[in-house]
Amino acid sequence: MGTKKITISHKRKDCIGCGSCALLAKGCWSMNGEDGKSDLRGAQWKNEEFMVAQIDEDELEENKKAADACPVNIIRVSE
Ligand code: SF4
Repeated sequence: MGTKKITISHKRKDCIGCGSCALLAKGCWSMNGEDGKSDLRGAQWKNEEFMVAQIDEDELEENKKAADACPVNIIRVSE
């Protein structure tokens, strides 16, 4: 359990702050009180557009749900 690492990408600048990811994958996402966008736990800038972080395999399903629920489609899950 929890050994395989999965990468999540977040195009944060396009986040509209709907809160779905933070609701569906509470352990990985939180809402930022400053700008109202979501923050991905432990995320680092990958390039000018995307922030990336690794999650555990046991967090995969909830993050897939978050990616599906995101209204602007800016969450990517790479296994
Ligand atoms: S679901 Fe998408 S738009 Fe909504 S807060 Fe999360 S990243 Fe932002």
